[in-house]
Amino acid sequence: MKIRNNDKVMIISGKDKTKVGKVLKILKSKNKVLVEGLNKVKKHVKPNPYKNEQGGIKDNESPIDISNVKVVCDACTLPTKIGYRYTEDGKKMRYCKKCDENF
Ligand SMILES: [Zn+2]
Repeated sequence: MKIRNNDKVMIISGKDKTKVGKVLKILKSKNKVLVEGLNKVKKHVKPNPYKNEQGGIKDNESPIDISNVKVVCDACTLPTKIGYRYTEDGKKMRYCKKCDENF
């Protein structure tokens, strides 16, 4: 899994195509990610007096398939492919294949 929490990702298909958001959660077993503010789905919610919730329509983020997002590089701000390499002291680093910066 090359995507991490708090990574910026761009959606590359669907109604939110080309939008960028922050990864909130990674659902490894499903190969999906939850991205802040994107792929929102309206849900009808019943009022729940026990939880002090009002009924109505809520829109929540819905998980997006990992194949439909690309990580956006912090350095060049472009959607990119991530590579891995090791530093001199043996630390594994991710790097951007576009601008060659570690991130
Ligand atoms: Zn880059």
